[in-house]
Amino acid sequence: MTAEKYTVLISKEEIHRRVKELGKQLSSEYAGKEILLICTLKGAVIFASDLARSIKVPCEIGFVKAKSYSGDRSTGSVDISFEDLPDIKGRHIIIAEDIIDTGLTLKKLSEYFLAKEPASMKICAFLDKPSRRKADIKADYIGFEIEDHFVVGYGLDHNEKYRNLPFIAKLEL
Ligand code: 5GP
Repeated sequence: MTAEKYTVLISKEEIHRRVKELGKQLSSEYAGKEILLICTLKGAVIFASDLARSIKVPCEIGFVKAKSYSGDRSTGSVDISFEDLPDIKGRHIIIAEDIIDTGLTLKKLSEYFLAKEPASMKICAFLDKPSRRKADIKADYIGFEIEDHFVVGYGLDHNEKYRNLPFIAKLEL
């Protein structure tokens, strides 16, 4: 079906276990509060939907579209569109991000959201590649830390392919 080869880096079972753990942690830390979970499209859509189902406190879901990659390369500039976002002011928001690479996307997103005066703001990233960081930004919750590989699956794409893989794979380009 595809020309590229991939090797599995994080299995479906490991992902399932970790996302459940994150949901449990968030449910306990936000007990008595309501969360506004902001999913960054498109990459975080599968992570955010699994995470939302593991969260046991009331949880609204919002979407923001961020694009900084073309193929397997970061373009260095972040294109963000904020359509149909619920009110942020006074809310406990959690940004659900697929992967932090240079950190430029999250830096821009967090500045935007902080300016809207949420009651609190946290970042929950499914994957983190700390060795690639350019912007000064850290996630509050991380699914897995990985080395500098280009990965696909569980929402992450290469030219819009592979998002539907239930595991994380390293793509041999
Ligand atoms: P950053 O702004 O942190 O450099 O980039 C974040 C975005 O780049 C992620 O949300 C994701 O869409 C994309 N990205 C970064 N690394 C990878 C990767 O290894 N695989 C895929 N598929 N996308 C990546």
